[in-house]
Parts: sequence; C-alpha cells; structure tokens
Amino acid sequence: MKDSYDLIVIGGGPGGYEAAIRAGQLGMSVACIEKRVYKGEPALGGTCLNVGCIPSKALLDSSHRYEATKHELAEHGISTGDVAIDVPQMIERKEAIVKQLTGGVAMLLKGNGVEWLQGWGTLLDGKGDGKKVKFTALEDESETTITAKYVILATGSVPIAIPVAKVDEAYIVDSTGALDFTEVPKRLGIIGAGVIGLELGSVWRRLGSEVVIFEALPELLAVADKDIAKEAGKLLKKQGLDIRVDTKVTNAEVKDGQVVVTSQKGDASTDETFDKLIVCVGRRAYAEKLLGDNSGIQLTERGLVEVDEQCKTNLDGVYAIGDLVRGPMLAHKAMEEGMMAVERIHGEKPQVNYDTIINVIYTHPEIAWVGLTEQQAAEQGYEVKTGSFNLAANGRALAQSEAQGSIKVVADAKTDRLLGMHAVSVGAGDIVHQGMIAMEFVSSIEDLQLMTFAHPTISEAVHEAALSADGRAIHAIQRKKRK
Ligand code: FAD
Ligand code: NAD
Repeated sequence: MKDSYDLIVIGGGPGGYEAAIRAGQLGMSVACIEKRVYKGEPALGGTCLNVGCIPSKALLDSSHRYEATKHELAEHGISTGDVAIDVPQMIERKEAIVKQLTGGVAMLLKGNGVEWLQGWGTLLDGKGDGKKVKFTALEDESETTITAKYVILATGSVPIAIPVAKVDEAYIVDSTGALDFTEVPKRLGIIGAGVIGLELGSVWRRLGSEVVIFEALPELLAVADKDIAKEAGKLLKKQGLDIRVDTKVTNAEVKDGQVVVTSQKGDASTDETFDKLIVCVGRRAYAEKLLGDNSGIQLTERGLVEVDEQCKTNLDGVYAIGDLVRGPMLAHKAMEEGMMAVERIHGEKPQVNYDTIINVIYTHPEIAWVGLTEQQAAEQGYEVKTGSFNLAANGRALAQSEAQGSIKVVADAKTDRLLGMHAVSVGAGDIVHQGMIAMEFVSSIEDLQLMTFAHPTISEAVHEAALSADGRAIHAIQRKKRK
C-alpha cells in the first residue's frame, strides 16, 4: 500500500471496479478498497457478481432448462424419461460462475495496475487536494490513513428490512438467502412483487415450489408501461405464480419449522404457512463506516449521497456512483457512472444518458423497456402515438414455441420521434437495445419502418410494431387509419 494515490475508489462492485479499471487504463495510480468476504474469501464484484445479477441469472437459467426439459420437449417429439433436479449441483454451478467472474475482476484490477486493498474505506476528509481516507484492513483490523487527489464513493446498497418479517437466515431470508436454498421449498412465500420477487419466485416455482407473492401496491409492475405490465402479469399468473396485489403482510413468525404469514387485503386478514419466506421489498443505499464525522459529504433525506448529473458530490474531486446515489439501482447504470466519473477526472466530458437506461426483468418471457411508457409520455405533454405487435404472429417465435407476449413502441405523434420501446417476449432484454440505440440516434418511427429486418427473427416484431404505429403492420389486421 502506498501513502498516496491519484484515485481511491471505495467499493469494488460493478460501479467501483469498472471506475478503477478505467482509471488504471488512463495511467492513474489507483487503489480500490473492498471489504466483502464471500463464502470465507475476500471478493470483488459487489452485490452484482456475488449475490445479485449473476447468481440470480445462473439459477434462472438452470431452472428454465429444468422446466423446459420436463414440460416442453414432448411437443418436439423428444422424450426424456424422468427429469430430476439436483439442487446442490445447481448451486455449485452458480458458485463456480461467481468465483470465475469475481476472480476475473481481481485479475483485471491487477492487470491494470490497480491495488485492491482488502478492508473498509472511510472518507475522513474530502476537502482540499490531499483527501484523507482511512483504510481498515480485513486481515488484522489495522488502520492506516492514506491520501488521494480524487475519491469515488461506490459502496452500493443492501436489502431493506421490515419489522413485520425479520430475516433469520433460516426460514425468513432476503435475496441473498434465496440464492442458496439447499432444497426446493414446498411452499414459498415472497413479500414484494418487484424485480427480485418475480425473478426468484420464477426460479423456485419452475423447480416445483408453490409460490405466493404478496404485493402491497394495487397493481403489478407499477413502473412499467400499463399494457406490458398487464400482459406480463397474465403470463406470470398462467405459469402458476400466485401474485396477490393490494395485500400487506402484517406479521411473519416461525412456528414448528414453518413460517406463519399473516396478510391483510382490505378488511380481511389471513394466516398461511410456508416453508420459506423471502423478503424483497427494495434496497437502500449503504454508507456504513463510509463517512467520517468531518468527511464534509452531503447526504439526501433518504440517505443517498447527493450528486449532480455527472456524479459530482458537494466536494471538489469527490464523486459518488451506483446504488449509493439517485436513479435506478442497476449494475449497468453503476458501471457507466463509474466510467463517467473517471473520464471527467481525466478532463473529458462524457455524460450518462439517464433517459435511455434499460430495465430488464429476467423472467421467461423477459419483461424489458427503455425510455418513456405511454402513460409517462402523455403526462409529459406529448401527443402520443403507439404501435405494438403480438408475438403470436411472429414466425420465428412460433418456430421456437415462444409465441407469447408483445413489443410496443411509443412515439411523439407530432415529430414521429421514438420515445420508448417496451417488450414482454423471449429475449426482450436484448430486443429493447434496438430501441435504446434508435433513441440515442434520435430515430423516428419512420426510420424503423424503412429498415430491413431479417426474416425470420424476433426483431421483426420491432419492425411490425413500428409499422403498426401508422396502421401498416402486415401480419396483423390493422384498425388504425393507414398512413
Ligand atoms: P455494489 O454492487 O453493492 O458494490 C458495492 C461494494 O462496496 C460492495 O461489495 C460492498 O462490500 C463494498 N463496500 C461497502 N461499504 C464499503 C466500505 N466502507 N469500504 C469498502 N467497501 C465497501 N442489476 C442489474 O442491472 N441487472 C440484474 O440482473 C440485477 N440483478 C440483481 C439481482 C439481485 C438478487 C440483486 C440483489 C441485485 C440485482 N441487481 C441487478 C442490482 C445490482 O446488483 C446493483 O445495482 C449493482 O450491484 C450496484 O453496483 P454498485 O457498484 O453501486 O454497488
Ligand atoms: P423493487 O423495488 O423492484 O420491488 C419491491 C416491491 O415490493 C415493490 O413492488 C413494492 O411495492 C413492494 N413492497 C414494498 N414494501 C412492501 C411490503 N411491506 N409488503 C408487500 N410489498 C411491498 O425491489 P426488489 O425486488 O427488492 O429489488 C431491489 C432492486 O434491485 C431493484 O429496484 C432493482 O433496481 C435491483 N434489481 C434489478 C434486477 C434486474 O435488473 N433484473 C434484478 C433484481 C434486483
């Protein structure tokens, strides 16, 4: 460890490690402080690689393969005999992927000359040129004060805890515990039908759990476009997820090895028993031990670090990024902010476009969107035109037995400019990248209509959705007036 660096990054999640690597590429002397210990080993990669994006996607993939093998191969004329799931093996595969990726990040830091300091970072004083950071080593808890010209705070987030359902790690778990079940719970309760509830609920339902999801809000996926949310809700319920909206959990306690959950809908209160209960009601910024009494950093009322559009805090040369600051809690948003902060330190002028951050929910089919929903566009005063196309009429989707869901485009009727793309479909997460690129290039609906999309692809549904905005889709009866 040196006494002083050009840049100290506190937090080695996707925001922090990507910032550190970029700074290394630009020739800065960089330390990245990360305190995480995962399964007994110090680990980089943050929530995303250890207990978030990647392990959840590994389980989503295993469970999808299991379900597809068990229920979907017969129609292709493929017989399989008995299909069984070995949960410990599935978890072992997930762990191997996590290890490979977090080990890869350690190599990338090293390869870019970044020093990984294993322990806690605390910004003691962020004012002036020699910013003071306390490093508390994991190994022996020794404390050292180091200085840097610049500091990036990237300490991420943790699950929100609720008093009515206290996590005990055995029966009542948060998202981290739900990635490590050793057997399939017969009955699984979930509080919160948000992204985690739907993704992890899907994993365990596919493997055989009877899943009940309690959602306090009156609507499912309140943040998504209403048509897409409605369609996604129908598909997920058809798959067997028992989603109870407008229902609050008022108590959860463990009795005789089972979780008794009391929920309330209107005036009716119900008790139900589950083998496990997952609490996933959102995440909150995490700033434990991050700021000393004289750090000088300003926080928002919600405990986020206050930043501007370029992730600058109130102190010159101190930036904050990712889940610790305003905006969606997404890995790709954290990464781009990390890159922006470092390049700004280096004197360049990049800007994250917050209007084109993509959301993906990795259910099957996926639910994804970019830009404005029809409702948001109307609220913002646009004269809105929309077009959509149902996957039931897409040849490739039919050929793949994936003919469910739809793709929708939202545009400004006056200028024809694309404002948003929304999809519930196989590969929706990849599909809406077309919308993101189109929006970045200020494309119109007409641009999408005039491009040649390959046949047969799911992407043709994007073309047809754009055509349908003007009543011109070919593979659907058009009720709209044709242009
Ligand atoms: P983090 O990844 O949380 O990293 C912060 C790091 O800082 C942590 O490792 C922590 O140990 C460390 N740290 C904290 N305090 C200190 C300190 N004082 N000193 C030293 N180190 C410290 N997002 C997506 O975009 N796609 C997905 O598919 C997706 N799936 C998810 C699934 C689950 C189950 C969960 C829980 C989250 C998921 N997310 C997903 C969200 C994503 O994980 C986060 O948005 C992302 O990890 C945020 O990155 P970050 O760098 O800001 O913070
Ligand atoms: P979320 O905000 O997506 O959903 C939480 C849900 O819980 C909401 O629908 C909310 O209305 C509901 N809720 C809140 N309190 C409740 C209560 N007391 N009883 C019943 N319902 C209640 O949060 P999450 O699912 O915990 O995920 C946290 C964050 O992690 C997400 O916001 C997202 O940014 C990130 N994440 C992203 C992905 C992805 O990109 N695919 C996957 C997982 C997590």
